Amino acid sequence: DAKKNGKNQAIFCSEDMKEDVQKRMLLSNALHQALERNELFLQYQPQVRVSSQEIIGFEALIRWKHPEFGIISPAVFIPIAEESGLINRIGEWVLLTACAQNKEWQDRGFKPVQMAVNLSVKQFQSGYLDSIVKSALEKTGLTPRYLELEITEGIVMKESKYVIKSLHALKDLGVSISIDDFGTEFSSLSRLKDLPVDRIKIDMKFIQEIAVNSKDEAVIAVMIYLAKRLGLKIIAEGVETEVQLAFLKDEGCDEIQGYYYYKPLSANEINRGILDLLIK
Ligand code: C2E
Ligand code: MG
Ligand code: MG
Ligand code: MG
Repeated sequence: DAKKNGKNQAIFCSEDMKEDVQKRMLLSNALHQALERNELFLQYQPQVRVSSQEIIGFEALIRWKHPEFGIISPAVFIPIAEESGLINRIGEWVLLTACAQNKEWQDRGFKPVQMAVNLSVKQFQSGYLDSIVKSALEKTGLTPRYLELEITEGIVMKESKYVIKSLHALKDLGVSISIDDFGTEFSSLSRLKDLPVDRIKIDMKFIQEIAVNSKDEAVIAVMIYLAKRLGLKIIAEGVETEVQLAFLKDEGCDEIQGYYYYKPLSANEINRGILDLLIK
């Protein structure tokens, strides 16, 4: 019986895998056309300083509106773009679009804030990252300090040699660096002090354990303390509830990104609704 089950499982498994490969190939082909066909767009999720209720920045998050499949999550298509190498062109487009949007809001007289852009490890491997960032800033006229580049903790810790070299080159341009999804790797606490970074973003997985798991709460408290002692800024990602917010405030984390305040919004939604919150 066990043997029979095992056999069935193997069959299901390989059918699933075949479907999976086909789907990825389909998406990979479609993704090549997505840029030209303007199917990619950015949403912007506001970041809030709790004590003053001000918007202090945005994170640019990419979306793909496929004509047949609808909206596809970056969690699905970014890995596919990385595999095919297309991530470099997509990443360049994200940088240009996000910088241009931030500059446009500044030109309209709103208080200047930072725009954060996510980077893929493949963009570091290209060897051109700093010149691509430099040219995005020059083309859009955005002052470097209003651009923040996000790199995940996993990338910094695993690919340290060339990544750290690039991070220094990027810092030299005057942009800020933050470590995304912080707390999910093990080896990082002691190495954080040597990295050219300005801010850490506490991973949502920890935030979800607030009021659920006191050990995760302890880890959050230590991350906040560590950031302060190292002179780094810290922001909590994925904050959804009043209880989570109260805990973070109590522990001294005053900057928040999450559905509690705002979901990622289109530029139009921001134009219509919340830009007045940026006025000093
Ligand atoms: P990330 O950079 O860690 O972005 C945060 C994710 O958490 C976003 O998902 C955001 O919509 C979601 N989020 C924010 N607040 C909340 C909340 O309160 N509750 C919940 N449940 N979710 C929240 P999204 O937009 O689906 O992006 C997923 C990941 O895809 C990003 O994680 C990032 O790693 C990657 N990504 C997005 N845009 C880009 C891009 O332009 N380039 C690259 N290389 N990666 C990107
Ligand atoms: Mg991010
Ligand atoms: Mg994150
Ligand atoms: Mg993530």
